[in-house]
Amino acid sequence: MKVKILRILLWHAVASWTWDAQDETCGICRMAFDGCCPDCKLPGDDCPLIWGACNHAFHLHCILKWVNSQTSQAHCPMCRREWQFKE
Ligand SMILES: [Zn+2]
Ligand SMILES: [Zn+2]
Ligand SMILES: [Zn+2]
Repeated sequence: MKVKILRILLWHAVASWTWDAQDETCGICRMAFDGCCPDCKLPGDDCPLIWGACNHAFHLHCILKWVNSQTSQAHCPMCRREWQFKE
């Protein structure tokens, strides 16, 4: 139940974003793509970016944490479509 409420709040937060910076910052940690995720100290090959089938990009570590935190099917945090890694 708690998770559901959180998801609805998150959806509203995403839907109300008006700035067009989703190509430059990670939608999960909000750190720039030319930096690294909060779990890493140095940007670069150790903290790669990954794209989903919906064309949203995230730090690999961020989306892995996100996917693993979902109790059922994971959805893209940006557009709520079913999350699949782009081949
Ligand atoms: Zn990130
Ligand atoms: Zn990282
Ligand atoms: Zn998406």
